[in-house]
Amino acid sequence: MGENARRKQAVAAARKLGVDALLVTHLPDVRWLCGFTGSNAAVVVPVGSRFRPILVTDGRYTAQAKAEAAGLKVVIAPKSAAIAACEWMAQAGLKRCGFDEGNTTVAALKQMQAAVPAKLRRSMFQPVGALVSTLRWIKDADEIGKMRDAAALGCRLFDDIFEHIVPGATEAEVALALEYKAKLAGATEMSFPSIVASGPRSSLPHGRASSAKLPSRGFVTLDFGVVLDGYCSDMTRTVHLGKATAEEQRVYEAVLEAQETAVAAVRAGVTGGDVDEAARSVLRRAKLDKWFTHSTGHGVGLEIHEGPRLAAKQTQKLEAGMVVTIEPGVYIPGRFGVRIEDMVLVTKTGAEILTPSTKAWIQL
Ligand code: ZN
Ligand code: ZN
Repeated sequence: MGENARRKQAVAAARKLGVDALLVTHLPDVRWLCGFTGSNAAVVVPVGSRFRPILVTDGRYTAQAKAEAAGLKVVIAPKSAAIAACEWMAQAGLKRCGFDEGNTTVAALKQMQAAVPAKLRRSMFQPVGALVSTLRWIKDADEIGKMRDAAALGCRLFDDIFEHIVPGATEAEVALALEYKAKLAGATEMSFPSIVASGPRSSLPHGRASSAKLPSRGFVTLDFGVVLDGYCSDMTRTVHLGKATAEEQRVYEAVLEAQETAVAAVRAGVTGGDVDEAARSVLRRAKLDKWFTHSTGHGVGLEIHEGPRLAAKQTQKLEAGMVVTIEPGVYIPGRFGVRIEDMVLVTKTGAEILTPSTKAWIQL
C-alpha cells in the first residue's frame, strides 16, 4: 500500500493549483511518492490521466528503480534527472509544471528552463512550494509502523547504554557505542551526528559528541536517533553522574514537568504555538524560561527535521497522523543543561509516546 494513494493526494493538491504536472526532485519526496531510494532521481506526476508518472534516474539504478518504483515508467538518462524530466515533459506536451522552489537552486532552475523550448521557458515552471513535503507531515499506517520500529530501536539503545556512561570515558566513546549497537540492530545510519554533551558542555543545546571526558559529577545529555527502513527516530534523555546539587535536581524536575505538560497538550486541532506555550509556561513559572532558547519541537519522518514546527506563535494546527518531537530544555551557559525529548504520534484525542524509555531522574 502507500505510494499509489500518496500520488493521488499529490495530484489532487496539484490540480487545485492549476498545474498539469508536478516535477519532484527532493529525494525524500521522491522516495515517499514511489519508493525509489537512489541518489539521483526526478519524478514527474502528471495531473491528467494521459500519462503514467515517470521516474527518471541514471544507468547505475536501472534494476533498483524497476524493483522499487513499481507502477512508474522508468526513464534512464545519462544526465541530470531533473533536466531529462524537463525534456520528457516538453515532448509530452505538458505546459505548466509545479516545482518546489525551496529545494531547487537558481542554477538548477536555469538548466531546467534551458531544457524546454524557448516559448515554454517562462510559463512551464510554476513554484508550488513544499507541496509534497507538506503532504508528508501526515503519516499513513505503513509509515507509522516504520516510525514505531525506529523509535523503539532508539529506546533499546538508550536502555542499554548506561555501562558506557562512566567518568573518564569520552563523549565520542559513548556516541560510538550507541552507533555500533544501532548498526548491529539494523539501522542504516544515525538520523544526525549524535549529541553527547557532558558536564558544562550539557549547556550547549547542540553539543556534538567530542573528545571531552565525562566528569565524575554532572549531567550527560544524549540526543540521538536512528534511520531504520528510511524513517528517522529522535529522542533525548539527560542523566546525572554522581551526586547532584539541589539546583540541578530542581532544573531537571522543571524540564520534566514542562515536557510532560507539553505532551499532554498535544492532540489534533491544537496549534504548534499552543504546545510550545504549554512547555514554556511551566518554565516561566520556575523562572527558567530565559534559558529555554529553542523551539519545543518539530515533525520527523523520512527527514529528521520536517514540519510542522512547534514554536512560539505557530498557527499551524496539528492533525492526527503527524509525528512530532516534544523537547524543551534549559541551558545555563557555562554551567549545565537539561533536555528531555520524546517522539509522539498525534491522535484525535491526544498523543501516543513512541519513545517510552524512562524520564525519571537517573543517577549513575
Ligand atoms: Zn533530538
Ligand atoms: Zn528533535
